Amino acid sequence: MRSLDPLIDLLQELCLAYGPSGQEEQIRQVCERELRASCEQVWTDEAENLIGYIQGRSTETRESGGPFAIRIMAHMDENSMIVKRINPDGTLRVNALGGLHAGNLGQGPVDILADGDVLPGILAYGSMHTTPESKSVDAIKKGPIEWEDVSIFTRRSDEELKSMGVHPGTRVVVSKSRRQLVRIQDCVGGPFLDNRAGLLIVLAAIAHLRETEVPPAEDVYVVMSTQEEVNAAGASFASRKLPGELTFAVDVGPVAAEYHTVLSDDPIVVYRDSTTLYTKSVADRLMELGQQLGMTPQAATFESYTSDASTAKRLGHSARAAMLCVPTANTHGYEIVVGNGLVQTAKLLAVYLQEAICPERFV
Ligand SMILES: [Zn+2]
Repeated sequence: MRSLDPLIDLLQELCLAYGPSGQEEQIRQVCERELRASCEQVWTDEAENLIGYIQGRSTETRESGGPFAIRIMAHMDENSMIVKRINPDGTLRVNALGGLHAGNLGQGPVDILADGDVLPGILAYGSMHTTPESKSVDAIKKGPIEWEDVSIFTRRSDEELKSMGVHPGTRVVVSKSRRQLVRIQDCVGGPFLDNRAGLLIVLAAIAHLRETEVPPAEDVYVVMSTQEEVNAAGASFASRKLPGELTFAVDVGPVAAEYHTVLSDDPIVVYRDSTTLYTKSVADRLMELGQQLGMTPQAATFESYTSDASTAKRLGHSARAAMLCVPTANTHGYEIVVGNGLVQTAKLLAVYLQEAICPERFV
């Protein structure tokens, strides 16, 4: 497995690339370069998912014909904002695009992805030295902070903004200046580790398959999916279209006392989330393999959580679902992982892919 420092360099590159839901072009370019190094075929599908194919070594075929296959999913999109309207004073009224709470970003610079240009803005709460007469500031002081109480400062007129290609539907993202990773002791902190960490883990795992020259047991379709943060539309489409019975998501796993999950380098294996049961035989196998590798995998059932895999299974687009996570603190905020957790989760994924023997999945 690759060592941590080059992985962190790639993670930084992934974090610097823009990837709001439904506009994942920049992050897709970085992922495509990496996928091409490890996959036999790489393409973008009709739902704008980036897909890489790796042939498995099994010669067994399904009853219905064709080889066994696994769909590995990690989503490319990041939590961001979308313009609802341009106010007469040239500020922008935005809503969350994904599961971002208005208070989670705090005040600070944002990038407005206007048609053809990127404009600077500032997520603003207004002047705090005011009385209840200033209603939105008062609402922010009393909390909770709602999107209707915050605005994007642009220092431009509404006409100017319109002529520069800003309109309802324009994405607003965390500024490049706030996308630097921070190393703290054994940890890495940054924005959108959900799911740049997942992308990195999948890329490291498939690079490991190539470097060890042990191909996966079954055919693998790596899906770097779109729009997970909104409704997992990309993953559902890919699960319906691609071969395979199992959709396997890699994402961040919330660290919380209520789930008995801790911030360590031991991967989290998910058995259930808000909407779906993950396939128990696959989760059990991941736990067992992790232990064989000297890890102490963390079994968890999450609430207030869905994934590419659980959504695909819930909608009937995948017969089976699995979920492997890197333990992550502060999810949907400024997220924190243990650096070695990225390496360990990638290692477990790679070994699972190399060892997953087709018939056992049908116990
Ligand atoms: Zn995620």
